[in-house]
Amino acid sequence: MNYNEGDNISDLSDMCEAISVMLINKEKPDICIYEDCKQKALYNYCHIHKPDFCHNHKMSNMIDKRICNYIRCAFHAIYNYPNQKHPVFCHGHKEVYMINIKKNK
Ligand SMILES: [Zn+2]
Ligand SMILES: [Zn+2]
Repeated sequence: MNYNEGDNISDLSDMCEAISVMLINKEKPDICIYEDCKQKALYNYCHIHKPDFCHNHKMSNMIDKRICNYIRCAFHAIYNYPNQKHPVFCHGHKEVYMINIKKNK
């Protein structure tokens, strides 16, 4: 994400709205995108919210997308908006309207 001068980056609700739009635009099965790989995708670069690579094919600078997206938070992500499939925040960092995605399976 790029922040311009004067942007209010502490406005978390704006940020979450942007995240949810990104997630809607990237609706695909959670399978590794490496050629012929059928493993579950769990990893991606920190600025991409959807996992695209399995454990075997992740790059060294990719992170586990099951971890909360909040900066420097290391808890497992389990919350997102009800219409989303991929959890993006832990219990401590979830937004008001986010629900436990894991529990609803
Ligand atoms: Zn793979
Ligand atoms: Zn967190």
